[in-house]
Amino acid sequence: MAQYTPNQRLATPAAQEFGFPYSPYEIQEQLMQELFEVLERGQVGIFESPTGTGKSLTLTCGALTWLARHEELVRTEMLARIRGVEQELTELEEESEKSSDWLESQGKSRAQRAELLRLQHLRALLDKQEQQLEQIRKGAKKHKRQGKVHPGKLEELEKDLDPESDSDSEHETADGPQEAAEDRYRPVQIFFCSRTHSQLAQIVTELRKTPHGQSVRCISLGSRQQLCGNPAVRKLKHVGLMNERCLDMATKKARPNPSKKSRLTAETNSRCPFKAASLVESLRDLALTEPLDIEELANEGTACGGCSYYASRSAVEHAQLILLPYQLKLQKSARNQLGISLKGSIVIVDEARNLLDSVAQLHGSKINRQQLERAKVQI
Ligand code: SF4
Repeated sequence: MAQYTPNQRLATPAAQEFGFPYSPYEIQEQLMQELFEVLERGQVGIFESPTGTGKSLTLTCGALTWLARHEELVRTEMLARIRGVEQELTELEEESEKSSDWLESQGKSRAQRAELLRLQHLRALLDKQEQQLEQIRKGAKKHKRQGKVHPGKLEELEKDLDPESDSDSEHETADGPQEAAEDRYRPVQIFFCSRTHSQLAQIVTELRKTPHGQSVRCISLGSRQQLCGNPAVRKLKHVGLMNERCLDMATKKARPNPSKKSRLTAETNSRCPFKAASLVESLRDLALTEPLDIEELANEGTACGGCSYYASRSAVEHAQLILLPYQLKLQKSARNQLGISLKGSIVIVDEARNLLDSVAQLHGSKINRQQLERAKVQI
């Protein structure tokens, strides 16, 4: 995957340019501007601010403002650079015709041609990405027009359940996130993590009050426990069992003529009807065009009969802002399952004072006195 890093530096915006929904206090202005500078320099920042000073919203506005300006700069600088290299090449070719040292002038223009090819390739990838985003915007409009899917429509949608096309189960058993073999532009993404989903839901509520809420592609990530819409799988309650059953269903053959009862009860001995590609895609498009918290995303899935879990996973590669709880970010296995790679990304850890406890909880085990005593006897 390719990425363009601008040479120019972004100027720090004035406090009123961050899209903050209220008149910011001085402390909030400072935080947004400092964060902007830290991101621009590619540094690590540790910020402390008293409770009740709107840290989460301040961080979101600061980071999204940087991202919007960075994306704009990427495109303008890349286009200017392409024009500049084309101009230099023309001049070099003119010089080469007059020059007696043919070898030297060819050497110079060779390097310029390679640079031009690299930049044109990046621009083509960026254009392709823009076209995909346009498709997503259209898909979201269609989703809203269609509204809820009537259960009777599931039969038609089950045609999308191509047993040969299920690559997700492979994805989850792989050793790491699949760096897409596909050649595509890798944009800078913001991973915003907090301890609980309710804290992340708060960010979504605040985000909607800002101008960023209208344009940002934001996705909330959760486990199957939070997002699975299949009632037969949901009733398993334990996340490990749910994962197992879902992956197991992915390997089943689609039923040629599913009975109405089996569709409505979403039996677990055939493919999951919620995973129909058109439904998952439509839900993904909706989720990327309006910020939804985890509960809203799950409800949208239930309403349209599509799988919110897979919709959120497929939205990750197109999202600018990814909201996730600590446990999904801190565990390699969870990141791999979701196909997340933090390389070249911005990671914001909100309420970072809880980080150590979360790491200890995730990677530690409890041993009681009885077990210790038994171990001592055995030794
Ligand atoms: S595909 Fe989605 S809805 Fe179906 S069992 Fe898996 S997580 Fe649940």
